[in-house]
Amino acid sequence: MFLFLSIACTTTNEPKSVITDTSVIDTDDSAITTDSASDTSDTQDTTTVDTADSSTPDCVEYRSDEEDFAPIQVTGHPLPTVATSKVWTIPTSFTSEVAFAGTENNPANHEGIDYIHADTGTSVVPIVAASTGTVVYVRTGCPQSVEFSSNTTLRECGSGWGNHIVIDHGDQIFTRYAHLKPNSIQIEVGDRVNISEHLADMGNSGRSDLRHLHLELGSSSTPFDPCAASQSFERVYDPDGLW
Ligand SMILES: [Zn+2]
Repeated sequence: MFLFLSIACTTTNEPKSVITDTSVIDTDDSAITTDSASDTSDTQDTTTVDTADSSTPDCVEYRSDEEDFAPIQVTGHPLPTVATSKVWTIPTSFTSEVAFAGTENNPANHEGIDYIHADTGTSVVPIVAASTGTVVYVRTGCPQSVEFSSNTTLRECGSGWGNHIVIDHGDQIFTRYAHLKPNSIQIEVGDRVNISEHLADMGNSGRSDLRHLHLELGSSSTPFDPCAASQSFERVYDPDGLW
């Protein structure tokens, strides 16, 4: 159904994923390994810090417009049983989608599923939690220049994910919601969210060429640092079939 073109991503300018049979292009997500990260001197680290209660996270979000470069994520396969045993729902509405792409134990070519909403008559497209869990990372501060064509502003902000949220579903299973609309995020680190709960709205921030949600299913054995720049999963999986 979809024509997969340029996949590999080893440079910041290389489209990472996938082109549908329309003009829709997703060049989001896949983080980039580099030892020459771009100048981040204009970083605006205005991380919100809460030290009043040791039971609350140190940061409820990481707010920055820096262009950071988290490592490319490795494809895991098959889906872990602990993931298939959970209850899931589709996280948004969409007009077309682009599939996950990758081969086991190799860097993923497209690290998640893209849910594209190209209807310009729909001004707000809500994103909801795909399953119950706890918010462990919120990245804000990434701008977007437009909604229905290529974002031209700070495309590597948030390692190309733009504004994004990571939810811990237990058993080392996580979801990531990327390219969120600026100032649309409704939750913060430490929040418990129920399946189908509104998280944010679909946007075009980061390395994105049209309003869409890039949804990743990942695993990690180490906790996310809510006060740090974007972080990769240890493995990403094709979530197709979970919902
Ligand atoms: Zn994507």
